[in-house]
Amino acid sequence: MRKANLETLNRLDPKAIRKDFPILERKVRGKPLVYLDSAATTQKPRAVIDSISRFYTESNANVHRGVYLLSQEATDLYEGVRFKVCEFLGRKKTEEIIFTSGTTDSINLVTTALERGSLGSYSEIGPGDDIVVTRMEHHANFVPWQQLAKSKGANLKIVELTADGRIDMDHFEKQLSGRPKIVAFTMMSNALGTVNPVREMALKAKNAGALVLVDAAQGVVHLDFNISDLGPIDYLAFSAHKICGPTGVGVLWAREEVLWAMKPYRYGGDMIGKVGDLDCAWNELPWKFEAGTPHIEGVVGMGAALDYLMKIGRDAISIHEKEIVNYALKKLSAVEGLQIVGPKQPENRGGVVSMLVDGVHPHDLATLLDLDGIAMRAGHHCAQPLMNYLKVSATNRASFYIYNTLEEVDVLCDAIENAKKYFMRRK
Ligand code: PMP
Repeated sequence: MRKANLETLNRLDPKAIRKDFPILERKVRGKPLVYLDSAATTQKPRAVIDSISRFYTESNANVHRGVYLLSQEATDLYEGVRFKVCEFLGRKKTEEIIFTSGTTDSINLVTTALERGSLGSYSEIGPGDDIVVTRMEHHANFVPWQQLAKSKGANLKIVELTADGRIDMDHFEKQLSGRPKIVAFTMMSNALGTVNPVREMALKAKNAGALVLVDAAQGVVHLDFNISDLGPIDYLAFSAHKICGPTGVGVLWAREEVLWAMKPYRYGGDMIGKVGDLDCAWNELPWKFEAGTPHIEGVVGMGAALDYLMKIGRDAISIHEKEIVNYALKKLSAVEGLQIVGPKQPENRGGVVSMLVDGVHPHDLATLLDLDGIAMRAGHHCAQPLMNYLKVSATNRASFYIYNTLEEVDVLCDAIENAKKYFMRRK
């Protein structure tokens, strides 16, 4: 991860940033909205909302199809976003950037292509091969591998966690001993807030001969990184809606030679070079993986989101998150009967804090907090293998982003204290 020089820190002002987000002006149940569910989806700044509206108002046409001006404009806007994604990830080749419908779709693209078999030098997954994932994966980076393993007769190996919710690196190494074909893990857990040592894990996985996939759905939100910081990874997936962009659009980044060796994901228009009666040739990268009319306005909106975030500065975003999560951990730890789920120390933690409150079911707590205008998540956070391991069915989760303030953490803590009193009275 990029290291900031403490003397020259680029800082953001959440109060100024809030003005860019129209939804934060609204009241919820008569109270100011305190939005603490950015790990599920972030709110959208005016710049993103306007970019989509402008696209439909001024440049709407299908891409890659027409020689007329509107279609060329739409194509330029759409393809221009590939360069922005490259800049965001610190890469140069737009061939490596595939637009998908989000992280889930990006990972399914990889597992489906692997299921279809390899076109080149990358070995196929077959019976008895190992596929390694971790206990903290979101279902999006668990179920596709589980189902690939089932269909190929391969073994799904799960890396267990330490007591405080970090990857057990000894167990990780043990799970690599079968020289897996693929190692897939998250950069940051959406359910625990843990930030994983991606580079170290990628180096070990590559030494064991595996392809390495990183789920950056949360990492891209909370951390400041370039692909080259992450070691020898092969694939990285993220969603636009978690970084101020629209829903239904995201990115799969993959090394060019890996993409060449992969069979297509979906078949249809745009992804072909030439079609005959009995067979066809695939399009060049990256279009080989983008069949059909894409989510054009979504990609345009994602471009506006990347511009917005890069203008604020990803270093400033990650510093703000650290500040707010440190404060939240301190304040929430002081609430009697509240247990933080996941690492207790702020080191290697992103802007997500999961918790359990004694005697209060997570759904009841979230419902009471909603009456105070606080949007906080309750549930299994799409991580049931983790919840089973923790022996809980649900937790509460507060997740923070650029527009959250320390005062909102205070509002959250006061609301939790009030909820505790309410439930005590009812006992
Ligand atoms: N991985 C992680 C770590 C996530 O937090 C999420 C979204 N909660 C996903 C994958 C799936 O993202 P999407 O629903 O945008 O495909």
